[in-house]
Amino acid sequence: DDFSALYTRTTHDKLHGGLLVEGFGQESCHSRYESAMYRRSPGRRPSEHLVSKLRRHEALQRRCGPGTAAYSDAIEQIKSGKNAASSPECKYLVSISYRGLGNRILAAASAFLYALLTDRVLLVEPRNEMDVLFCEPFPNTTWLLPPDFPFWSFSMDTPERYGKMREDGVFRTDATTGSPAAAADMPAFAYIHLDYNQTDHDQLFFCDEDQRLLSNFQWVVMRTDSYIVPGLFLVETFQRELGLLFPERDAVFHHLGRYLFHPTNHVWGLVTRYYHAHLAWAQRRVGIQVRVFPWEPESPELLDRITKCTQEEGLLPRVVDTAEEPAATATTRRGVKSSAVLITSLKAWYYEQIKGMYWENATADGEVVVVSQPSHEEYQHYGVKSHEYKAWAEIYLLSLTDMLVTSGKSTFGYVAQGLAGIRPWVLLNQANGTAGHKRPCSRDISLEPCFHVAPLYNCKRRQDSGEILPHVRHCEDVPTGLKLV
Ligand code: GDP
Repeated sequence: DDFSALYTRTTHDKLHGGLLVEGFGQESCHSRYESAMYRRSPGRRPSEHLVSKLRRHEALQRRCGPGTAAYSDAIEQIKSGKNAASSPECKYLVSISYRGLGNRILAAASAFLYALLTDRVLLVEPRNEMDVLFCEPFPNTTWLLPPDFPFWSFSMDTPERYGKMREDGVFRTDATTGSPAAAADMPAFAYIHLDYNQTDHDQLFFCDEDQRLLSNFQWVVMRTDSYIVPGLFLVETFQRELGLLFPERDAVFHHLGRYLFHPTNHVWGLVTRYYHAHLAWAQRRVGIQVRVFPWEPESPELLDRITKCTQEEGLLPRVVDTAEEPAATATTRRGVKSSAVLITSLKAWYYEQIKGMYWENATADGEVVVVSQPSHEEYQHYGVKSHEYKAWAEIYLLSLTDMLVTSGKSTFGYVAQGLAGIRPWVLLNQANGTAGHKRPCSRDISLEPCFHVAPLYNCKRRQDSGEILPHVRHCEDVPTGLKLV
């Protein structure tokens, strides 16, 4: 077969329709302009409005980012313990992301969108390998929070926690009018706490009135592990701009992710070497993400669901008894279809079973199926660079496949489907899926990630937050969560 034909098919616009700028750090970040070559589909097109907003935001990051006079002033201000007296030219959002890599990526993407909507400079905390996994997204500046930032620990007990300040009525008097005159009496920053133990007061973040209050702070620090974007769509103040930025509402993470997250050269080496060795040759590439937890036993039931899902939905060929195998001559073999199956999992068992099935049995139409898995790390290791590199490479490799099977509820899978721009088939287990789920998997309603700990009600009326807007719906894998469709 002519392999080069397969490669020439994938020469899409390396700038993704203007999402990326030309000539930025080619040597320090190979993936930025090479990734389009590895994708069979060019993905969605960003709106003109998004493209021009990104260029303006890049200018803001340069004008106000670390190393500028504006940044030094802002650091002095936060150290003084008081908010800026008058409306400052540069405002900042510090993003703290934590937990697994999928969580961290979704949190950073959410923070970026919030920074875009509020014209704040985004600075990400470099801890949790945020500094070694991704290239710098903004030209000629850094998005990493410098070490001279005075606060590095945030929790429920942080006095500047926004929910706490609201609960204590700190803003009850003149600041509720949002008048800048009151701004100087406010603390030096507001800390938005959207962790699993957030209170109703913390969730006021998703209300219009509170966004007006927050706009008076020069510094906002946000700590979350979630994809809070569907919550931002509930804020009326943001709705017009969001509609212009994302006329296709199911492609928000798709664009933000492709703009922000470019694997650093080391990770890109893992991605491309694996791709050329195991995926490049295939006519069809199928990714299967098997999210298991270290303490879970091997599950024949889950294996059965994966097999049924891929075969009944036509992602992979059915197997037949070897006795029925059609005779394979050299000539009939030449036109045969080929599939590469990429499995990612902490365990090797599912991969071994599926690989064995396609070796020990023939496929009905003689199709060649080659199954591989890059690693099986067994446990989630925190703070181990080689582990994080593999996790990021595997998420990225999944995103280079043509069809995806993911595990419900997993942010690891969400990132892959979003970067790929494809709606996956989701393996739902009886426990977390919609009751009475009989099918082995179900096609996702959109390619967007699910916001797991979303506000249950809207701010003014006690109305179910999944029933307010037609494009913000409850998720199938996490029924109380919200997602854009
Ligand atoms: P989630 O917990 O499924 O939502 O995904 P996260 O990415 O947030 O956290 C799971 C973490 O476990 C990952 O970041 C990896 O560190 C590890 N992990 C889980 N599944 C895999 C896998 O298939 N491959 C690798 N290399 N690591 C995995």
